[in-house]
Parts: sequence; C-alpha cells; structure tokens
Amino acid sequence: AVSAYDPQNIFAKILRGEIPCNKVFEDDHVLAFHDIAPQAPTHILVIPKGAYTSYDDFAANASDAEIIAYTRAIGKIAAAAGVVEDGYRLIANTRDHGRQDVPHLHVHIIGGKKLGLMLP
Ligand code: 5GP
Repeated sequence: AVSAYDPQNIFAKILRGEIPCNKVFEDDHVLAFHDIAPQAPTHILVIPKGAYTSYDDFAANASDAEIIAYTRAIGKIAAAAGVVEDGYRLIANTRDHGRQDVPHLHVHIIGGKKLGLMLP
C-alpha cells in the first residue's frame, strides 16, 4: 500500500460514532455528511464505510458492491441536494500533491452557487 490506513483519522471517528456529524445519507456501504467548514451553499462529504485512504486505494481494493453503492450514492446525494440542474463539482483531494487533509477517501460535492475556476 502507498500508505497504511490510520484508524484514528477524523472520518474513522465519525464512522465509529465517536464524534458527531450532520448526516445527509447512510446505507450499508456509504455515509455522507455536511462539511464542517462549507465552501459553498452545498458542501457535502461522501465517504465509503470501508477503510480506504484514497480513490486509488478504493478503486483497487473495494468490492464491486462497495464501488457500485458509492458511485450511485454520490449521484443520488447530489440530486437530493438540488444541485443537479444548475451543476456542481466533485473533488477527491489525494495525498500531498492533492492537498488531502483527512486520510479516508472522501468526495466533496460542492454547489449551490457559481464556483470559481480552480485548476490547478
Ligand atoms: P480534504 O482537504 O482532506 O479533501 O478535506 C477535508 C474536509 O473535511 C475539509 O473540507 C474539512 O472542512 C472537513 N472536515 C474536517 N474535519 C471535519 C469534521 O470533524 N467534521 C466534518 N463534518 N468535516 C470535517
């Protein structure tokens, strides 16, 4: 593995119920909650329940059921948040160069306003 999973990361603590979150969606494989420091009117974090550090780790090691659940959940959560028609952005910051802060895979769903340009 590129880097071992740290079971003390903040999203692992949220998954164990050790710290609270403002939940948006949950099923067997997925949890979604509002970002604690929203960058736009809609800013939701979607995480798999499994111990995956990053998208590449998840893509390589998750089961088909986990991948299907996660992919579909992101779409459903965006629709439920009401951002589909006007549009939104998905972001998965990864490791050092990607400026990932929390080492548990999370996709940001950001929308609700016209976003700034951000690449790179
Ligand atoms: P990253 O930079 O790793 O892609 O983003 C981590 C995100 O997690 C940030 O947007 C940050 O605001 C959010 N975050 C960090 N700690 C917490 C927390 O305890 N609860 C929630 N809901 N979001 C958090």
